Amino acid sequence: MIDLCNLEAKPLLSINEALKKINTAVKPVTGTEKVVLKNALGRVTAQPIYSGINIPHDRNSAMDGYALSSHDIRPDAFTLHLAGTSWAGQPFQDHLLPGQCVRIFTGAVLPEQADSVVMQEQVKSDGPTVNFPANTQAHQYVRAIGEDIGKGDCLLSSPKKLTAIDLGLLASAGIYDITVKRSVRIAFFSTGNELTSIGLALKPGQIYDSNRYIITGLLADACYRTADLGVIPDNKQKLQDSFIQAAENYDVIITTGGASVGEADFVKEILASCGQVNFWKIAMKPGKPLAFGKIDNCYFFGLPGNPVSVIATLQQIVAPALQQLAGAPATKPLRLQAICTCTLKKAPGRQEFQRGILTQDDSGEFLVTSSGKQDSHILSSISQANCYIVLTAACTGIQTGETVTVEPFSLFI
Ligand code: AMP
Ligand code: MG
Repeated sequence: MIDLCNLEAKPLLSINEALKKINTAVKPVTGTEKVVLKNALGRVTAQPIYSGINIPHDRNSAMDGYALSSHDIRPDAFTLHLAGTSWAGQPFQDHLLPGQCVRIFTGAVLPEQADSVVMQEQVKSDGPTVNFPANTQAHQYVRAIGEDIGKGDCLLSSPKKLTAIDLGLLASAGIYDITVKRSVRIAFFSTGNELTSIGLALKPGQIYDSNRYIITGLLADACYRTADLGVIPDNKQKLQDSFIQAAENYDVIITTGGASVGEADFVKEILASCGQVNFWKIAMKPGKPLAFGKIDNCYFFGLPGNPVSVIATLQQIVAPALQQLAGAPATKPLRLQAICTCTLKKAPGRQEFQRGILTQDDSGEFLVTSSGKQDSHILSSISQANCYIVLTAACTGIQTGETVTVEPFSLFI
């Protein structure tokens, strides 16, 4: 099997080299903005966030039961007088005297004189008295002040991309709004005379534009503000005007199509004339004809036209750049080893991202098989896939039973 990229005049840039170039070129946004906590999911902290309070704020009970002083605990069974109740949100107000205990519920504040809680299942209560068993333990089921977070402790470092759990943590400290990095403004458009929009009937030779829907979905992230600028025909002047205008208003431009070497592929040429090309073409399949550069202060990604190439290059090449630009901590996709249950064809030369279906057998072993046709226009097989099968540039094919590297699309397979 021959990979046409082996016929290139000079060796293609490896994916790692391309990522290094991007890493060197991309400067994170510096602006910040204040957002209320409920709008902060997925945003990136611009500064560390400290707690203004102790959490827990009061000593409180971890159980429904009875609060007492350890001074009153006896090795044998013993009886105390019930002095009242401490409810969550409605503490017992009086002084607890020796020989007394209070009914207490989970989260309720312990009276100052109490330091132990006994679970309700372990006692017998009879109106005004409560009988505790032998071997009752002191200092159990008491949540100490500040045992989760102390006043002044750092709740979250910076940069941190905020998860739902982080929002819960910040809310537990009563934090109302936070300073986050400003969002990255991304414009994208499709190029190609053959493209038409869904909702219109196809004329001969036309195809529906699927790339803009893919990009909208893949860039659905709170750090990004995306603008779908539609379809531009394969017309040099129109392309150039659109690029220049978008570069004035956005941090990033992403185009699809027209990035190759066909008669109607103008993207790289226009990027070179109105900006700078950092690199063009990488040793990746799908996704070879990818152009990266800048127009003024705007980063530019010219992706190939075929939808599967768009998906793979967005995930493998563009996503790390956008994360870096957003000031988010770098993340790496999870990769696992799996046994391939079919043969895979592969020519040496480019790193490949074949589409696979990953399963886990009863013994916990990961198994992967091809999800079907692997051409870069075949959207159905990537839609059915749940992982990439990542094959090195040097790989010349895989036999059934060989171990391969897979990258799940999500953590649930
Ligand atoms: P190009 O790089 O412009 O030569 O495009 C390569 C292939 O991708 C061609 O078959 C195009 O028709 C197809 N293609 C380009 N843009 C899109 C798009 N937005 N949606 C679906 N297919 C596309
Ligand atoms: Mg085209």
